[in-house]
Amino acid sequence: MHNPFRVLRPATVAEASRELSRLGESACVYAGGSELLLLLRHGLVDYEQLIDIKHIPELSTLEWDGGALHIGANVTHRRLELSPLVLEHLPDLAQVESQVANVRVRNVGTLGGNLSFSDPHSDPGTLLLVHEATVRLQRGRRKRRLPLEEFLVGSYETVLEPDELLTAVDVPALPAGVGVAYQRVERIERPSVGVAVAAGLRDGRLADVRMAVGCVGPKPVRLHALEGRVSGLSLSDAARVMAESRPVLQEQLEPVGDIHGSVEYKTHIVSVLLARTLAQAAEAGAGRSDG
Ligand SMILES: Cc1cc2nc3c(=O)[nH]c(=O)nc-3n(C[C@H](O)[C@H](O)[C@H](O)COP(=O)(O)OP(=O)(O)OC[C@H]3O[C@@H](n4cnc5c(N)ncnc54)[C@H](O)[C@@H]3O)c2cc1C
Repeated sequence: MHNPFRVLRPATVAEASRELSRLGESACVYAGGSELLLLLRHGLVDYEQLIDIKHIPELSTLEWDGGALHIGANVTHRRLELSPLVLEHLPDLAQVESQVANVRVRNVGTLGGNLSFSDPHSDPGTLLLVHEATVRLQRGRRKRRLPLEEFLVGSYETVLEPDELLTAVDVPALPAGVGVAYQRVERIERPSVGVAVAAGLRDGRLADVRMAVGCVGPKPVRLHALEGRVSGLSLSDAARVMAESRPVLQEQLEPVGDIHGSVEYKTHIVSVLLARTLAQAAEAGAGRSDG
């Protein structure tokens, strides 16, 4: 059981931020509530006021402008899974969203809530890193924009200030000939390992490689150094590099041994999945010459 709380329903992001600033630590925003209500129910947090941001219209937009997909923070996993716009322009995101949790959670859980909560066992953040997504934040009337890679700081930690909201995620189109693939392992309720790769093949050599790994350490991580090592290689040479990459992965991912598996298990799975996902992404890219 949780203590009683009051619910406020601001009409704009600026108003929600002002309420957060005024009420301080006694208040918290929520969108779908799928994480927050669990925390309240288990007595892990306690708030006197909850600020319901679900009905703020500016947070629910979903638009394609010809060069990028703009996703309002309140767009649910289910909407991303089923939207014709997402299926047309970012089919890999729709695919990943279809694997998040179960349909009940996807119906209420939002992308903004997922990224702001920064649970290490999540899917969309890892995928969006290889899309080089950026996030828009707002505090009062002040707005800022930064790469998702900088937004995610660690386990349940982001750069959000206490009175700041995530308002949207912008996902630019991929270069022509580049495909994306995502693989995950799920042993218990949430993903144990998630691997995302974007890649193309030019004359049989890997190009535009981006790789990210989630769930094994405190936050999803882009593997910039490894990307550099496999760029320009054939797929079979890249697979050999992946097989030898465990020391690098351990250093960069900071794997944590937990109920999802030991550090050794997770690192092994990642090295296998990276090679597999790289081949899949390159194959997907071969079918995409339109950008
Ligand atoms: C049973 C279960 C299984 C799950 N499985 C998966 C899975 O397989 N893969 C996966 O990726 N995720 C999984 N999840 C997590 C799920 O994706 C999140 O619960 C959901 O996306 C959170 O969104 P929400 O709107 O419900 O967040 P809320 O519960 O409303 O909020 C979560 C946190 O984010 C903050 N917040 C929310 N919106 C904003 C905003 N716009 N700006 C600033 N702060 C904000 C809130 O203050 C709160 O701290 C699972 C969850 C459950 C309960």
